[in-house]
Amino acid sequence: MKEPRSKALTQGKDLHAQTCKRCQRPILNDPQAQGHCILHAPIPDKDLKKFQQSLDEIIQPTFGAKIKKEETKCDFSCIHFPKGFNCRSLEKAFVHHCIFHEVTFYGEAFFQSVKFEGRAIFSNAVFSEAALFDLASFEQGANFIGATFTKAAGFMSATFLSNAYFASATFSGIANFEAATFSSEANFKRSTLMGMARFMETRFLGATNFAEANFSSAINFNQATFLERASFSQVKSPESDEVNFTVVTLQKPQEVTFHHLNLSRWIFLGTNLRLIDFGDVTWAITKRYWFSYPISALCDETHNLVLRQLYLDGSSWLISLLSSTFTTSQPINFK
Ligand SMILES: [Zn+2]
Repeated sequence: MKEPRSKALTQGKDLHAQTCKRCQRPILNDPQAQGHCILHAPIPDKDLKKFQQSLDEIIQPTFGAKIKKEETKCDFSCIHFPKGFNCRSLEKAFVHHCIFHEVTFYGEAFFQSVKFEGRAIFSNAVFSEAALFDLASFEQGANFIGATFTKAAGFMSATFLSNAYFASATFSGIANFEAATFSSEANFKRSTLMGMARFMETRFLGATNFAEANFSSAINFNQATFLERASFSQVKSPESDEVNFTVVTLQKPQEVTFHHLNLSRWIFLGTNLRLIDFGDVTWAITKRYWFSYPISALCDETHNLVLRQLYLDGSSWLISLLSSTFTTSQPINFK
């Protein structure tokens, strides 16, 4: 039955008048859109052409802007990037500040070799698939506070020329920062590293903060460099994997702090531990004999320590070590 003309017009007007909860664009005629436009609808599969057209409306006003590019920004906050979206199509935005606050990438987010000339803000972003920033450079700061990396996160050889914040970020897959350079502050406070994390040959040139981070799997800092103060206090160490802190260069060891954590899974061979600020740390003892070979991790570490003239509570660590029964239930506390 045909609807009265007046009613049809009213409905059409209502639909046209309905705008996105987050912007003024018309809503998608899809119940899954939950009252959002094509950009903000939480839908993994979208019309990529129409999606790109709406994105260009954000990017294009910055073209040829008379104001300095450092003062312009492209705000992509809360956008849900669909599967199959090519991050390269954002290229013209990378010369400005880019705000990806609370965005969701349903597909892979490939930002390899991208040069972010403005601030790159990915706070609370969700990467449902791999997020790859290998060889990318962040010239005015990188903000990944609270970001969720569901799969692999790649920052290999990335360059952070200003502060880099990964505080409270969650890495569920491999986190690869191998050979990355943090020229200023590197903040991983309260981050969660559930998969393998690679910081081999990573250069931390500014203050570094891993305090209260949660390491669940193997972490590798082999040949990393820390030029300024660094905190590993209250780090939750992995229960079955190791933290490789071998051959690490510490320019200011007296400003490197390990407070209130269990170091039984940490390996420090080749790293000069003199002057490091250890406080209330625990080293578990493995059940092996001092004269057996290969010697236990503890023996490795204590040998390394005594070579550097570090002692336990002023007493002879060697006597206590030789006279003790090596069981895992008998930790040694360094105060
Ligand atoms: Zn919208």
